Amino acid sequence: MKVVFSPVFKLHKPPYSHPEAPDRLDAVLKGAEEAGAAVQAPRAREDVWNLVSLAHERGYIEFVRRLCKEDYAQIDGDTYVSSGTCEAAALAVSAMADAVDAGETVLLAVRPPGHHAGFVGRALTAPTQGFCIFNTAAIGALYKGEGVAVVDIDVHHGNGTQEILYDKDLLYISTHQHPATLYPGTGYPDEVGTSKGEGFNVNIPLPPLTGDDAYAEAVEEVIEPILRQYDPKIIIVSLGWDAHRDDPLANMGLTINGYLRAISTILKLQKPTIFLLEGGYNRDVLRRGTAALIRLVDKGEEAAGEAPSKTDAKVYERFRRELGEVKRHVSKHWRL
Ligand SMILES: [Zn+2]
Repeated sequence: MKVVFSPVFKLHKPPYSHPEAPDRLDAVLKGAEEAGAAVQAPRAREDVWNLVSLAHERGYIEFVRRLCKEDYAQIDGDTYVSSGTCEAAALAVSAMADAVDAGETVLLAVRPPGHHAGFVGRALTAPTQGFCIFNTAAIGALYKGEGVAVVDIDVHHGNGTQEILYDKDLLYISTHQHPATLYPGTGYPDEVGTSKGEGFNVNIPLPPLTGDDAYAEAVEEVIEPILRQYDPKIIIVSLGWDAHRDDPLANMGLTINGYLRAISTILKLQKPTIFLLEGGYNRDVLRRGTAALIRLVDKGEEAAGEAPSKTDAKVYERFRRELGEVKRHVSKHWRL
């Protein structure tokens, strides 16, 4: 699998210690190197600002571009802009559009992340825009226009992606730590989409400490049947490694095994799949996860390099209750 990377993605940088920092990409590149993947630089597209405006209002885009003229600015308590942010965020969008055009399976090792960014920045009821500038996943989906499934396996709900795609018949499926326990506070099962998009927004909240065994049940019982029925032309995976049990920003119980299970289910559809880096803050998990992902795509090897995690009985009981609620909503639109 090709890995798309440019040093430009490291120009988005905080002047102080921040979990979403350029060295995340060093960890990803190291994993890519360990797995023997070819790394290729993206080209900057001339139409990139038109692409950005597929998902964001003009006022927000102008606001961000003004902030990029300063050395450094803060959009909110979580989200910074540096002088290189616009070049980095725009190049990520270019890389996405080229990947959609190419129709091949690829890993976009890009920054800043995007899935919390809504039409005007802060999405839905979130207190901040959670390190995100432009919603690269939603832009990719809107650019393709039809037959796109966005599968978001970052530990946080992709509230921006949901907001932007909510009235579209483009499939959005998100697994995330339960919104009552984690930013951004949305992603409940009854958020199913509206008008033409009704049924195309699928939220699967998971109780804190959910392990690989329970996660595999959510993948098999909900994600796999919906993906098969939707039969996407292309799949965009919002890939955040922060549902790993060793991530410092969340409280889930997955190991890399849980990720590989979800990813192998997606790969079984044999569609072009664009893996887009979102969150993930443990550098070692970023490195090992990237290597495992590439080995799975290239060689079909499901080798996580760590033992799978088991869900505690009390957590599992909560998980089944939550999944039952998900199925109750989803089964109005899909055969499970
Ligand atoms: Zn996240």
